[in-house]
Amino acid sequence: MPRPTRIATLAALAVLGTMAALPVLAQNVKVTPLGGIDGEFCPQDRALIFEDPNGTRLLYDPGRTVAGAKDPRLGKIDVILVSHMHGDHLGNAHNKEPNSGSCAMPDMSVSALPNSVAVNIALEKKSKIVTGSEMPPFFAAKLKANGGDPANSILARFGGSVTVGGVRIATVTAMHSNGLDPDYIGGDLGKAMKDAGIAGDVGLATGYVLRFSNGLVTYLSGDTGITADQDLVINKHYRAKLAVMNIGDGFTTGPAEASYVINELVKPVSVIASHANEVGTVGGKVRAGSKTEAFVKAVTGAAVHVPLSGKTMEFDASGKCAAGC
Ligand SMILES: [Zn+2]
Repeated sequence: MPRPTRIATLAALAVLGTMAALPVLAQNVKVTPLGGIDGEFCPQDRALIFEDPNGTRLLYDPGRTVAGAKDPRLGKIDVILVSHMHGDHLGNAHNKEPNSGSCAMPDMSVSALPNSVAVNIALEKKSKIVTGSEMPPFFAAKLKANGGDPANSILARFGGSVTVGGVRIATVTAMHSNGLDPDYIGGDLGKAMKDAGIAGDVGLATGYVLRFSNGLVTYLSGDTGITADQDLVINKHYRAKLAVMNIGDGFTTGPAEASYVINELVKPVSVIASHANEVGTVGGKVRAGSKTEAFVKAVTGAAVHVPLSGKTMEFDASGKCAAGC
């Protein structure tokens, strides 16, 4: 075979190979944890990027482990989801850069006040921020004050949903608290509130249910206790197949409560552990005696996946992990 023809044949084969691979890959939702240390599950880890098969990318609860708006791991961010206003979710401070500090003792020395990590990323990436309850006016005001577009703050209140970039986003109940730290308010009012020990009222804390374009329905618990809605709404109405469940105890459900939620109420096909508030893994393996281990052992009806920072997992429409788990 003359050389040009052979090259053309090889090129044609490469194109065919790509075409053959695409329809399979394109059906999965990719989930990438942006935690404190690559390959581990660390105390402050909350942030997850969800990538729809259509390319829409959503960042859930950036918190403190996303190293600010310039973190190179972010890439394009179309939508930011913030379950509630506490600093470890909204992001009152953040790592200097990915992998700064250690898993047990992360370096979170960069303040993001008074804006928050979530707002700084939204400004940098021109992302929409979709929240429920009474949080949207806060985000609209922050965007406007910093030269952004207040219309990028979008409401999805309990019971309804909005569709952004082909992903349907609903908020659901979370039994928690949602006070806005006066440090985000600042000025005389912020100082007076701080001195009085009271927080700003931005309504109830929330969780989310996402429906991706491939049909995968995903429940993001946010910080919550056990709620009847986890059965009545998230299981029976939305029929979530993938769950992200907080397991840290003290502030949210611990391993015993979270496993009950998964086994008896939500009943998903897969669950990603989150918000452990401990060193969950060492060398990428679940640490013996950890809350993460207790949760893995207590879940009986679903496959448990531990979010290792930077390691992308792929889920198909049925909630089954198709790659990376
Ligand atoms: Zn909280």
